[in-house]
Amino acid sequence: METFLLERQDLPAFLNACEAHRRVHIPVEMETHHFIFKPLAEAGAASVALHYLRTALPPKKYFFPPEEVLYRFDAEGYTPQQPDLPPMILFGLHPCDLHGVDVVDHFFARDYPDRTYQNRRSQAWLIGLGCMPDAHCFCQSQGTEHVDGLYDMFLWDLGPRFYVMVRTEAGHDMLHMARALFKPVTDSDRQSYLALLKKRQSAFQLSMPVADLPQVLEVKQDCAVWGEIAQTCFTCGACSMVCPTCTCYDMLDRLELNGECGTRCRTWSSCLFRDFDRGAGDHHFRRDRGDRVKNRYYHKEHGYVNGFGKPSCVGCGRCITSCPAGIDVVSVFTKVRRACGHGGEETRS
Ligand code: SF4
Ligand code: SF4
Repeated sequence: METFLLERQDLPAFLNACEAHRRVHIPVEMETHHFIFKPLAEAGAASVALHYLRTALPPKKYFFPPEEVLYRFDAEGYTPQQPDLPPMILFGLHPCDLHGVDVVDHFFARDYPDRTYQNRRSQAWLIGLGCMPDAHCFCQSQGTEHVDGLYDMFLWDLGPRFYVMVRTEAGHDMLHMARALFKPVTDSDRQSYLALLKKRQSAFQLSMPVADLPQVLEVKQDCAVWGEIAQTCFTCGACSMVCPTCTCYDMLDRLELNGECGTRCRTWSSCLFRDFDRGAGDHHFRRDRGDRVKNRYYHKEHGYVNGFGKPSCVGCGRCITSCPAGIDVVSVFTKVRRACGHGGEETRS
C-alpha cells in the first residue's frame, strides 16, 4: 500500500478527472441529514458530502438494485435482460459500508454465484472515506470500524488535506487520472493520521458486547423477548431495506395485458414479511411474527457467525434511525442478554 496527500480544495478536480474515465457516484445531501449516493454528472463534484455518516440506501443498490428485470418471456422462451453497469467509481464508502459490500459479495459472488451481480460488481472501483461516529454507530463492536483490502483507495480527512491510501492496481489507475494533485506524505501528516484514528476510536458512544453473543443466542432459542419485540415491530421491513448486508429478494412474473409476454423481476424483500417464506399449500416456515423477528436477528449475530466467522451486521446504525417503531438492534440484544441473566450490557454515552 502507498500513501499520498491530497489538498482539500483539489478533491473536486480529482473527482472530475475520474469522471472523464468512469462514471463517478458520490454521497450528496438532498435535504438536511438526508444523504444518497448520486451520479457526479448530476450532482456536481462541489456537492460531495464529506460529513455524512449514512446514506438512505446502502451501496448494494448499485450491484443488487431494489428492482430489476432479469428476463423477458414469451411463447418462444426467456431472453435475459441484464444491463451491465458502465465502468464506475463509487466514492465515499465508510468502513462499515465497505464491509457491507464484502458480505453481499460473499452471498452473490461466492456462495450463490450470480452473473448479473458479478458483472456489475466487477465494473466498480471503490474509494473509501474515513468518518467520525455518532450515537448510532457501533461498527467498533462489530469489528468493522477499519478496513483492509476491501477498497481500491481510501481517504482520511485531516482537515486541510486528505491522507490517501492506495491499495490496488485500480487505486493506482485512479491516482494516475490526476497524478499531479497527489503529494508525498510527511512525518507530520502521518502523526496527524494516527491522531485522527485515536480520536475516532474514543469517539464511539454506542457499543454492545458480541464476543459471546452467538453462544448466548444458541442457548436462548426459546427466549420470550422475541415475542415481546414482535408486539411493537410492524414487520414493515424498513430495517431490511436500508441494511447494507440484507440479501433477501423476491421473484415476480409480470404478465403484459396481451397475455402473450411478460417480465421476470427481482425485487428486494425481507424475511420479516409474512409472505416471504410462504410455500405451496399455504405452508409458512415462520408464520409467527416473533419467529420472523427472531430469524432476522439470529441471521445477523448467530447464523452468519457460525457459517463465516463474523457477524453480518456491520454496525452502520441505519436500521436504528429508520425503524418507525423505534426498535434498536443494540437494545434488542441487550434485552435477550438480560432475559437469560447473562449481563454484558450495552454502553451509551
Ligand atoms: S423497521 Fe422496525 S418496525 Fe419495521 S420491520 Fe424492522 S424492526 Fe420491525
Ligand atoms: S442490522 Fe442494522 S446496524 Fe446492522 S448492518 Fe444492518 S442496518 Fe446496519
